[in-house]
Amino acid sequence: MNVEQVYKDANALLEGHFLLASGNHSRRYLQSAKVLEYPKKASLLTDALAKMIKEAGIEVDTVCAPALGGVLAGYELARSLDVRSIFVEKKEGGMELRRGFEVAEGEKIIICEDIITTGGSALKAAQAIEALGGKVVAFASLANRGFCKRVGGNNEAKPECKLPNDIPLFSLDDFTFEMYAPEDCPMCKEGSVAIKPGSKS
Ligand code: ZN
Repeated sequence: MNVEQVYKDANALLEGHFLLASGNHSRRYLQSAKVLEYPKKASLLTDALAKMIKEAGIEVDTVCAPALGGVLAGYELARSLDVRSIFVEKKEGGMELRRGFEVAEGEKIIICEDIITTGGSALKAAQAIEALGGKVVAFASLANRGFCKRVGGNNEAKPECKLPNDIPLFSLDDFTFEMYAPEDCPMCKEGSVAIKPGSKS
């Protein structure tokens, strides 16, 4: 599967001049929700991800996603793995399980995101699960922005990566974009203004 092409076809991989959450500028941006617009296409992605997880011999009881971004990917991955799906939600400084969801002592859980950038939300989700006695056996995401090392990938973890290095990260592909500080941005120098696509447009 050519994952980058799947993202391009879904208009999930944007080209232009973007202001990233880090404050840096980039020519490319992943609008991850777009690749999940069509459930049947989304399930092809999570089937491929589930295959990688199974081939690595990871045993899973449950997929847990950090809301909101990870919920759809987590739900589809749970379907592909034929396991339970839950999600955690933001609270001040972290994440928590609500809505009657429960975690058993020693339950083997994969934390699933649509995209892993530095892994901050995924780490908070893992901490919430472990505080309840669950065991985080892996992290998973459809896309990896290249800060964290994924199983089978070529990139080493960068200092920005917040995920623990003793738990594997499974992602379909790395999307490593060239980034510029605003004062060094060649597009800004040409007079263009960076736009912030984010989750609010
Ligand atoms: Zn710029």
